[in-house]
Amino acid sequence: AGTGPRSGVGTGTHCPYCALQCGMTLTPRPPGGARVGPRDFPVNEGALCQKGWTAAALLDTPDRLTHPLVRHRRDEPLRPATWEEALDLVAGRLRELRERHGPDAVAVFGGGGLTNEKAYLLGKFARVALRTSQIDYNGRFCMSSAAAAGIRAFGLDRGLPFPVTDLRGADAVMLVGANVAETMPPFVRHLRRARDRGGLVVVDPRRTATAELASLHLAPRPGTDLALALGMLHAAVTGGHLRRDYVGTRTDGFTEAWRIAARWRPEEAERVTGVAGADQRAAVELLAGARDAYILTGRGTEQHSRGVDTVSGWINLALALGLPGRTGSGYGCLTGQGNGQGGREHGQKADQLPGYRRLDDEAARRHVASVWGVAPEELPGPGRSAYELLDALGTATGPRALLLFGSNPVVSAPNAAHVTRRLAALDLLVVADVVPSETALLADVVLPVTQWAEEEGTMTNLEGRVLLRRRAVPPPEGVRGDLTVLRELAVRLGQPAERFPDDPEEVFAELGLASRGGAADYAGISHRRLRAGEALHWPCPEPGHPGTPRLFLDGFAHPGGRARFTPVEHRGPAEPADAAYPLVATTGRTLAHYQSGAQTRRVAELVRAVPAPYVEVHPDTARRAGLADGDLARVVSRRGTVEAEVRCVPGIRPDTVFVPFHFPDTGRANLISNPALDPISGMPEFKACAVRLTPANEE
Ligand code: SF4
Repeated sequence: AGTGPRSGVGTGTHCPYCALQCGMTLTPRPPGGARVGPRDFPVNEGALCQKGWTAAALLDTPDRLTHPLVRHRRDEPLRPATWEEALDLVAGRLRELRERHGPDAVAVFGGGGLTNEKAYLLGKFARVALRTSQIDYNGRFCMSSAAAAGIRAFGLDRGLPFPVTDLRGADAVMLVGANVAETMPPFVRHLRRARDRGGLVVVDPRRTATAELASLHLAPRPGTDLALALGMLHAAVTGGHLRRDYVGTRTDGFTEAWRIAARWRPEEAERVTGVAGADQRAAVELLAGARDAYILTGRGTEQHSRGVDTVSGWINLALALGLPGRTGSGYGCLTGQGNGQGGREHGQKADQLPGYRRLDDEAARRHVASVWGVAPEELPGPGRSAYELLDALGTATGPRALLLFGSNPVVSAPNAAHVTRRLAALDLLVVADVVPSETALLADVVLPVTQWAEEEGTMTNLEGRVLLRRRAVPPPEGVRGDLTVLRELAVRLGQPAERFPDDPEEVFAELGLASRGGAADYAGISHRRLRAGEALHWPCPEPGHPGTPRLFLDGFAHPGGRARFTPVEHRGPAEPADAAYPLVATTGRTLAHYQSGAQTRRVAELVRAVPAPYVEVHPDTARRAGLADGDLARVVSRRGTVEAEVRCVPGIRPDTVFVPFHFPDTGRANLISNPALDPISGMPEFKACAVRLTPANEE
């Protein structure tokens, strides 16, 4: 992370990428660009990573979409169209498909990078204007396991239930499956004390840049994290570190959870995970011996077909050590996408209404329906989760049309070749985006929309703090805001225009009303308060309320105020390595790129840093496969093949290969990933699938 002077000139705003939502300034540089400058903000204190410093390049990328594109047949090229033509075409086809096949013939897919206002209006558009139950979003692939486990344990999911800056006081921090030194570098500054005191523990099958900083690195086989959590819970209890007072007064369910963990001596966990029993005990002692300690999870431990149970395993350990709900200690999950927190609160999820309410809760339906001016029985019920939805597209019983906002599933969804075929089988694919992403290039209609610094909107960062991203530069001529697009479509589908406002401040005010009384209550937050610089973490139920930076200090959100242990049993990955596919592939991110790479692959400096896909392999594994550093390799799973350059790194487990998932074409990591879903969260198993490794020129 670079640092600069404490303040810059220009408009104070926030980074377009990850959930840290670093503060920055943007100064227009006519005719179309801008310059990023530093800005003092608590989560980043003026520092930005390489992606943040180069973010202005997104504003004048040469292939920016500036007019709608349409085609009437898939074998025709996309051609420029007016907005009237494009919107009339979409609305007409949607009406036709609904009449012929019913409302669930139309599906909506959103994104964790959309502002709160967009996420909210998208959910309302789906349920009110389209009356479809078929809506979900790419955050299902990101935060869903941690969210479900958090609700199960604490009655509420807010990624970090404390400000990021609280971590500065910690003597010990354990990061599980989170490579923050690459994914959100400015975050590392908050771990300085733990690191200096020898209290930084990192759990990751790779010796990542973050693991390099740690005093203790535990490298489990991919897909065995729950066994590790059970072994460490065993070590905590048998080592005399169980906080009996806390467990007795603030939690329920320890006995049932211990009944399973009692079978997992650290040596038994070592047999499954490969992590030495002594290291498991040492990690527990570091956490238990610290005055203030935190356990933080990331996608590495969550993106599994038993991801919810795995996170519960880590939460059980945190509860046994008495960490959650205490000042200066805690458990949290590190949200990934820019609005990964807000994106899961306002109703673009298949099973959810605004305010983090359940769609099958009668009282919630009544409340939200009254805000929307419709009858509760008009609201559809829960729909399919993200992968199930993509998998059903164009099938006899699935949706015939898809409206897609802020997502690029051709690159980012698991089993990507299959998903691409399903998208191609649709009668109508509409993509609203900023650039011609790989998914937009498949569409029948492409709608060019504003981005980040060209529009006002709020984001909720990983600590539940609601931020105002300000408009710093004018949008290019010809693009429209997503809110305007939704309003225009809603009107064409027979909705009154006033039901779909397109002013972000007005939409946010309505979102506040809809969220009132829910878990994520935004009713007291307004653009005006945010513009005035107030730091507001939800819940914030009234206009005079100061917000809630720290949750659970007086009790957890379950009735009775106690947290719950969950009895969880280890089960390995859905697709273990075998004789035909002897290695385990895991996917993830690299410093220079973000998500599907649709943005960062258009920034010259980031492309120079990491121009092409690669596969990280242990030198011994490479040698056995007949490969050397720099060779082109094939990584083959039961679903597909990735071609990428070999990078030999001694810090990765010899039974594991790593492929970053930011690249298209033959380097698409998700060609190999396994869509086995967690039964609770619907999270696919991105982090463990069986593969074999061969030279690319070998048949
Ligand atoms: Fe900060 Fe994340 Fe942006 Fe990097 S990508 S500058 S860590 S918000």
